[in-house]
Amino acid sequence: MRPEILYPLFGPTTNLAGIGPRLAALYTQLCGDSVVDLLWHFPISVIDRRYQPKINAAEPGRVATLTVTVGTHAKPPGRNARQPYRVTVFDDTGEMGLVFFHGRADYLEKSLPEGSTRVISGRVEAYSGKLQMTHPDFIVPESERDQVTIVQPVYPLTAGISQNQVGKALRNALAKTTELPEWIDPSVLQRDGWASWHMSLKAVHAPGSPDNLEADDPARMRLAYDELLASQLAVAMLRANRRRQTGARVTGDGALRARVLAALPFRLTNGQEQAVRDIATDMASDNRMLRLLQGDVGSGKTVVALLTMLIAVEAGSQAALMAPTEILAQQHYQTILPLAEAAGIEITLITGRTKAKARRATLDGLASGQIALAIGTHALFQSDVAFKALALAVIDEQHRFGVHQRLTLGAKGRAVDMLVMTATPIPRTLTLALYGDMDESRLTEKPAGRRPIDTRTIDLERLDDVYGAVGRALDQGAKIYWVCPLVEESVAIDLAAATDRAHSLGQFFGDRVGLVHGQMKGKEKDAVMNRFAGDSDAPVDLLVATTVIEVGVDVAAATVMVIEHAERFGLAQLHQLRGRVGRGEKPSTCLLLYGKGITGTARARLKILRDSQDGFRIAEEDLRLRGGGEILGTRQSGLPDFRLADLSAHADLLAMARDDARLILDRDPNLETERGRALRVLLYLFRRDAVAGYLKSG
Ligand code: ADP
Ligand code: MG
Repeated sequence: MRPEILYPLFGPTTNLAGIGPRLAALYTQLCGDSVVDLLWHFPISVIDRRYQPKINAAEPGRVATLTVTVGTHAKPPGRNARQPYRVTVFDDTGEMGLVFFHGRADYLEKSLPEGSTRVISGRVEAYSGKLQMTHPDFIVPESERDQVTIVQPVYPLTAGISQNQVGKALRNALAKTTELPEWIDPSVLQRDGWASWHMSLKAVHAPGSPDNLEADDPARMRLAYDELLASQLAVAMLRANRRRQTGARVTGDGALRARVLAALPFRLTNGQEQAVRDIATDMASDNRMLRLLQGDVGSGKTVVALLTMLIAVEAGSQAALMAPTEILAQQHYQTILPLAEAAGIEITLITGRTKAKARRATLDGLASGQIALAIGTHALFQSDVAFKALALAVIDEQHRFGVHQRLTLGAKGRAVDMLVMTATPIPRTLTLALYGDMDESRLTEKPAGRRPIDTRTIDLERLDDVYGAVGRALDQGAKIYWVCPLVEESVAIDLAAATDRAHSLGQFFGDRVGLVHGQMKGKEKDAVMNRFAGDSDAPVDLLVATTVIEVGVDVAAATVMVIEHAERFGLAQLHQLRGRVGRGEKPSTCLLLYGKGITGTARARLKILRDSQDGFRIAEEDLRLRGGGEILGTRQSGLPDFRLADLSAHADLLAMARDDARLILDRDPNLETERGRALRVLLYLFRRDAVAGYLKSG
């Protein structure tokens, strides 16, 4: 149960004045749907509005706040929209013009009544020898001067929400906050000069200078530490909880595995064999398995997963494989189905799209134990899905699911062993910190016959050449991916960019061009994917995609990957995307197109990618290079998504939080002391409800 003191923070953003359902939807896109998500939406820059000159002393080019008397309004003649609406304002030293393009007379007459005194703020310009201000950011009566003459925080926006709206929403959100019980050790607060949670939160939203935006600002550090401590505490509690549970000993006779191995058209690599052995050992022990299987895209994790699931089935139990998307679940199903048939066992696919009737039959089969393997999306979590004897849960692409979901699936059987697979190699230092003592297996060698991918970086200015190369490749029968970047601020813009690109390519290459994007219905998506995969008489050879193809999708015939605005992607994600090609016999190419204004860091990252195909090395470099200012970094790299902490800047805090969490649980395992109770609040504040649920109430 969430502590009452947090209720105001977890209310919907519609609880804030001025936010109705329409705006709330935009806020959901921007930062999330509750008040606390808004509070975690931190400023990225500042505008200093404290400069308050008289008109004749105002320096062009500077942002100034002026107190003026409103003079005459000059509306544009007739309906000529190109002429701006002008308002003259003055003080005792001179006059200047306020300029409004497409200005609405009724609005301007109301906010700037002739003869009134107004405080205006914006950038001063000189235009044919006179001073003017175009679209002031603020026009307020004198009584509201205090709201303007500040260092104004500037927030990331999304289309449809203005800077002033976010500012106001945040003021209202902050007004709902109060001090929370202190969960950080007082000696630490003192040593690092950190203020309380409430003070720090207010400070982050009222930066006095650009320095306050840096990752090493004390207020930001404190809040980042809170987040890391919550995460480390959750990890440590999971671990402690796991230690308390003994697992079932699951061993098989190898009969099913032998049949599948015989049916495979290839031999396992050493890495795959080793991984299966390690997992078999874990399952046979009476500890509950929690193992991470890491391996680059294409390293062959699926077959490892299948073989381990067969161990469970050989032992007379069931296993489940969960994938983060519909497409992936389907693909796993299709890969595994013929092999399961070879082994003579029954499997099923459960996704959000499974029809009610088929679903009922499936649920019966799982409950009776007749169906041995279930493959699906998070639909597998639903409460009516019950297994007769679930012994193993395999979770593909782990970082897309939260700890909570992992626990829910685990709860569907007794002492379920867990295998978590990820294709985003995570540096070893980080796995330790993030997953505690989770065991891991790594698939480092690629299956035989894989060839390196010829990777090149190309200026987007040379798009003509790229079109030419794409045309030649198509003539030779190539299958090509063309990925358009995710524009974080807006799904609509993403989509527009991908649609435009598909249209433009279509003009050259006709209906061999297809488009998939995140907004499409599952069926439409499948239809296009199937045409690309080749099961269609209207084949798609050039597939334009937003990043929906990011994980897992397997079209072995694809040999060319074009990534537009590669500089906007995280390195690990680029590496994953590139791994979509180079899966078949033919040599493959990856073209990384970069746009104007690419930064030095971005250039360095693309170079790493060009020079290396080693996912683990790329992941280490990604972490090293990703500066705190690169907002796109964390979210797209596939690393666990911290809202406030920046792992490239706050690595020390992470280590400190890990040690602190251990110490806390040693002394107060059930969080019952005063500090312990404060820590419970912290866990809920960062949505670790699932682990908090382990605690006895107190
Ligand atoms: P990922 O690790 O990305 O999930 P997959 O399991 O999808 O990789 O495997 C990628 C491809 O490699 C599949 O087509 C699979 O059949 C093939 N593959 C897996 N293991 C081997 C192997 N030992 N030798 C040859 N091909 C393999
Ligand atoms: Mg996979």
